[in-house]
Amino acid sequence: MRALVKAKAEPGIWAEDVDTPDVGPNDVLIRVHKTSICGTDLHIEAWDDWAASTIPVPMVIGHEFMGLVEAVGSEVEGIGVGMRVSAEGHIVCGRCRNCQAGRRHLCVHTSGIGVNRPGAFAEYVSVPGSNVQLIPDDVPDEVGAILDPLGNAVHTALNFDLVGEDVIITGAGPIGIMAVAVARHVGARWIVVTDVNDYRLKLAEDMGADRELNVTVDSIRDAMTDLGLKEGFDVGLEMSGQPAALHDMITHMNNGGGIALLGIPPRQAPIDWNDIVFKGLTLQGIYGRRMFETWYKMLAMLQTGLDVSSVITHELPASQYAEAFDIVRSGECGKVLLDWT
Ligand code: NAD
Ligand code: ZN
Repeated sequence: MRALVKAKAEPGIWAEDVDTPDVGPNDVLIRVHKTSICGTDLHIEAWDDWAASTIPVPMVIGHEFMGLVEAVGSEVEGIGVGMRVSAEGHIVCGRCRNCQAGRRHLCVHTSGIGVNRPGAFAEYVSVPGSNVQLIPDDVPDEVGAILDPLGNAVHTALNFDLVGEDVIITGAGPIGIMAVAVARHVGARWIVVTDVNDYRLKLAEDMGADRELNVTVDSIRDAMTDLGLKEGFDVGLEMSGQPAALHDMITHMNNGGGIALLGIPPRQAPIDWNDIVFKGLTLQGIYGRRMFETWYKMLAMLQTGLDVSSVITHELPASQYAEAFDIVRSGECGKVLLDWT
């Protein structure tokens, strides 16, 4: 089958013919239809320190996808050939303390599709049946391909109660943009988004944000005054991974506020811990999605008016992967999809 492979321990990604993956008794083989490129894929392509220390080569990459079930292992129940599916990309051990307690998103032995085991940028991917998620008929294929990052947005946004709350989202990348839609859907009052990229701030505006601030020129304080927001934000969703953005967020939080941290900083990020202490802030790290409550909530919201389709700005045939990676690298995009059919 055709696949995008991290074939060598150096920068680059290569389209190659590889063996179709095996389907064990507990696995499901999926014919991939649409995939979506994640920042992680760019790290693997660039072969940065994280990638070099994490990815065994050769490795078929990619973890954001949807497709149709092609074959089902003998022990798998409830999944049939032809069903339209996506899959949770984190495969958990089932044996550690957190797994046994039902906190599978906190498994200490998580293995990632397209990171630690063969991924979905291919004609076929094999995943454990327990990770497969059925896509409802009223959710289109394109949105089916971005359920993984939407799940990151949903997991982060639902960590604190947003009903009637004022929310600041730092980072209008694809996940920050989708978090705007989720916060709006569940009843936040004011939603302020920051970034340094005007293209992305426009996408956040289209998604329903109340103020989109380019922090290189706009003042968060002025926007708060303008909105009549006197004391500070109740909830912060950090989705940039930039230390400066986290600093902006902490500065503008109300006492007693909650910050959910999804963004992955490139280095140690200085924090004035006095702000955390004296404001009585709660910080919550977020990794992946809750298994499988985030999937349940996300699909339920998509069926009841949550619309994130405008975050998808590009779709190319899989053969044009190099161009697609260039688009993602440019930052002048939301989600970029590859079609494998
Ligand atoms: P992205 O890199 O596309 O988006 C980050 C955005 O932050 C960009 O639009 C960038 O312009 C913006 N930014 C840069 N400097 C800023 C500043 N000073 N203030 C505000 N915004 C600024 O990433 P994404 O795919 O949307 O993911 C968001 C973050 O979440 C990334 O850091 C990613 O690594 C991380 N992530 C974490 C998990 C997890 O499980 N914890 C999963 C997926 C992604
Ligand atoms: Zn575990």
